[in-house]
Amino acid sequence: MDLVSIILPAGILAGIGFILGLLINLVSVIFYVKEDPTIDEVVDLLPKYNCGACGHPGCKEMAIALLNKESVVFDCKPIKKDAAKELQAFLDNYFKNEKKS
Ligand code: SF4
Repeated sequence: MDLVSIILPAGILAGIGFILGLLINLVSVIFYVKEDPTIDEVVDLLPKYNCGACGHPGCKEMAIALLNKESVVFDCKPIKKDAAKELQAFLDNYFKNEKKS
């Protein structure tokens, strides 16, 4: 077995990998969707267990549901009272400001 029979396929595979990597990067730039930063703020106020006890697949989906008024804070079963109060205050403030704009 000569060296070319090893290096050539490895080089071709590396080249294909490089080109596919560039394509994936390009597609991610073209289809980038800017997300509402409020979602992350709500997620930070949730327990972040991603347990699904709220009926959503994870805390991010629960945050989106809270912001769309499709869920209430105590749908999150493991949330502590103090955290729930803080989250509810954040949501009240968010909805109050939303009405003004
Ligand atoms: S129940 Fe609470 S901790 Fe569990 S996934 Fe839902 S929001 Fe996250």
